Amino acid sequence: MVLLISILVTFTTGLKAQQPVVLNVIDSLTIRPVHPPVFEGITTDTTHLLLSDWPVTLVKYSYGEPKINFIAIHDDEDTGVKAAFEYIRFSGGSIIDCQYGGIRNFKFMYNNEEFQTDPNSIYTPAGIARGLEKYNWAAPEVVNMLANTAKEILKLYNPETPPYIFTLHNNGDGGFGIHDYLKGYPLENFADSLYINFEMDADDLILVTDVNLFNRLKKENVNVVLQSNNAPDDGSLSYYAMQQRIPYVNVEVQHGHLYEHLRLIEIAAKALEETILPL
Ligand SMILES: [Zn+2]
Repeated sequence: MVLLISILVTFTTGLKAQQPVVLNVIDSLTIRPVHPPVFEGITTDTTHLLLSDWPVTLVKYSYGEPKINFIAIHDDEDTGVKAAFEYIRFSGGSIIDCQYGGIRNFKFMYNNEEFQTDPNSIYTPAGIARGLEKYNWAAPEVVNMLANTAKEILKLYNPETPPYIFTLHNNGDGGFGIHDYLKGYPLENFADSLYINFEMDADDLILVTDVNLFNRLKKENVNVVLQSNNAPDDGSLSYYAMQQRIPYVNVEVQHGHLYEHLRLIEIAAKALEETILPL
């Protein structure tokens, strides 16, 4: 049964312009018809942020015993969210899904100017500036707004408990893939070590920042990248995690590779439990 929940949104006036406005936080709602389709018994906590004039909704879906917590930060990537639902349906856990119109970038107006950035470039000051400069310029108020948005996302995810960050991404066929980290390719500076299973689709891979996790995943014969400690500061969540010494896992597959996404999530979750979270 689907219950429609009417949400009372409280607008707060008089806040400084550079802060994202937390409109409302709602605890443990019954399911409601948001994307992707949810299953019975799953609960949601919804946080509404306003990035200048751009609404960003963070939906935390939880089910069963708390176990692995996931986060999906690009709103045009749904395969990971669906795979996470399948994982938590059987094993318990949660996923934070960032929703802002089904596209990749944040796009918003500030002082009659349009700004745009990749939401995966807002986790360090240098990354925020670089991300904005790809499209316009790094207006200081806009830099502050994005830094505060990143803080709100991390506060909801709370990477200290659990002591890791586990993200899910999707990519296009033949675009970004594990080969991009090989010597002479665009991302060679981002990787310290690579393990490639040539029988897998090159678009399907796991990226980690912890060497023990990397060595453990190699034994599973899956595509895996160990991010370099000298990776350029692109403001990504993986760079932030490395800087903060928080073990980071990204399971990334081609759009639509749902079964492979679930398989790699299961492998990575098990490896995480055996190396970072000994039971
Ligand atoms: Zn992504």
